[in-house]
Amino acid sequence: MDPITFGVLTVSDTCYNDRSKDRSGPRLVSQIMQTFRNARVIASVVPDEKHLIQSELREWIDRKDVGVIFTTGGTGLAPRDVTPEATKPLIDKECTQLMMAIALASLKKTAFAALSRGVCGIAGDTLIMNFPGSEKAVAECFGTVKDLLPHALHLINDDLALVQRTHAQVQGTETVQAQIHVCPHKTGSGDGRDRNSPFPMLPVSAVLDIIFGVVHRRSSLDDDIWKTTSPVNIPPFRASIKDGYAMKSTGFSGSKRVVGFIAAGDAPSAQPLEEDECFKINTGAPLPDQADCVVQVEDTLLVSRDKNGEESLVEIMVEPQAALDVRPIGHDLRINDAIFPTADASSVVIQSLLASVGISKRLPKPKVAVISTGSELLAPGEQPVPGKVYDSNATMLEELLLYFGFDCVRTVVVSDNLADTKASLVTLFEKVEFVISTGGVSMGDKDFIKTALEELQFKIHCGRVNMKPGKPMTFASKDNMYFFGLPGNPVSAFVTFHLFALPAIRWSAGWERTKCPLATIQVKLSQDLSLDSRPEYVRAAVTSKNGQLYASVNGNQISSRLQSIAGADVLVHLPARSSECFKASAGESYTASVLRYDFISKYE
Ligand code: AMP
Ligand code: MG
Repeated sequence: MDPITFGVLTVSDTCYNDRSKDRSGPRLVSQIMQTFRNARVIASVVPDEKHLIQSELREWIDRKDVGVIFTTGGTGLAPRDVTPEATKPLIDKECTQLMMAIALASLKKTAFAALSRGVCGIAGDTLIMNFPGSEKAVAECFGTVKDLLPHALHLINDDLALVQRTHAQVQGTETVQAQIHVCPHKTGSGDGRDRNSPFPMLPVSAVLDIIFGVVHRRSSLDDDIWKTTSPVNIPPFRASIKDGYAMKSTGFSGSKRVVGFIAAGDAPSAQPLEEDECFKINTGAPLPDQADCVVQVEDTLLVSRDKNGEESLVEIMVEPQAALDVRPIGHDLRINDAIFPTADASSVVIQSLLASVGISKRLPKPKVAVISTGSELLAPGEQPVPGKVYDSNATMLEELLLYFGFDCVRTVVVSDNLADTKASLVTLFEKVEFVISTGGVSMGDKDFIKTALEELQFKIHCGRVNMKPGKPMTFASKDNMYFFGLPGNPVSAFVTFHLFALPAIRWSAGWERTKCPLATIQVKLSQDLSLDSRPEYVRAAVTSKNGQLYASVNGNQISSRLQSIAGADVLVHLPARSSECFKASAGESYTASVLRYDFISKYE
């Protein structure tokens, strides 16, 4: 287990005035240290004053590293017992069952336990428990909760893997598919009162594994394209590499008569050629049959022109050498040789190499459609309407597909309505293999995407991802139809497109698996960043300082603020906060996904 910092707060007028009288605080500290090998403890004593108790608690809650606070004292019925009153206003979520567990255990020992009013709850991500003031009671209360604490902390910190492990241990299924285990605390019962998503929160890497397992990779690329041989030689004739003069290498330097002019595109000349003669020739033009070398124009002098102004006599200043500045037939690629020296699924590579041997063939690309869902959406260009917002996602996704070399076959906007959503999906999947939608995948009562998918018998492989932004990203499939339900917030859609939809489309197009996700680099942070409870993908601009790459975050990272993609060169991968580490510090190195080819914004 990660190190936990515990706070032990003794609340007692007496102990505040004479620390040596505090036995409960030190007892708790020693029990904590004995129970948790990697615990750190901070301790303090305050009088029974509500505001002093609160200010100490607040300071510890705000410290972020403090996972658990135990107070001891001030929980009774005396007028100055105000610890529960000081604690309650700081609590975001009450944990009544935990307190009940303590009460039940304590009541078995003494009926006086009924006189304790302690509360228990979560403030931020700190668990606070009020224990009574007596040393004996403190020891018993701690004994009751100590085994529950690690799991409680994992839940509070959304530490999925550890939660899963604990559940597996409890259920005796530790080795079975931990990653798809659904924690019942997180998913609720699934009925109408269930406030949580029924989908397990999967790590990004697991979602990618699922995508590569589910999406069909086009094998025609491996089987056919890479074996294609050339029907022609490149060049198909002996081509001049330079602008200059074609001649016989058996002749010498000195004056030569210019007997013809050959431009690129002319047919090879069969005209006889003497050793003291030459042709003026351009780069890429075919050598005359009887010439075997070219002397570049820089190594010659013009001696005279004829009456029409054409060159008639030149001085060749260097000795001609056989094959000088001539590309022989098939020099770059020979007829019947394989066109592709290596498999490279980039459409730039495939299409241009095919074109170079005269094959005009458009390779089929995966067909992709984009849907924006939301009754609030206005098309750009429309007049503003109260309550509506402009649809930026459709344009963004269309441009991203084009940027990465794919086509967007169709774009539709669907209002928040189950029947329309289903109808649009059915129509689109008649034409395309991939539908990328935005919006409608969260927990709102107008979020119909998942229901529509289920009713259309799609298999939902993923309904939540442990990431920020983009948690509700949904991936579903049916036969060879693949659906990405990206969240509606524009930045969430931007990030999840790059992390999931793009790799899937590339994979389908036949790319190598390692090439499907964005390329990653190491960048140093230019500033301190606080870590979230989920792994975060932060938009940042890259500055190159003497070759070392630094990433600066692009302003407020709220997922609705599309401006954070402006100037964004990379997505910096920040790990989730842990009890050990709650911030990423300036100067530390992190992995970053490269968003664009021109990914350096500044050189210093
Ligand atoms: P949803 O994921 O549908 O709950 O939407 C989350 C937020 O994203 C809401 O504020 C929506 O108005 C906004 N949103 C959804 N779709 C789009 C879109 N296509 N363009 C811009 N904002 C959107
Ligand atoms: Mg919506």
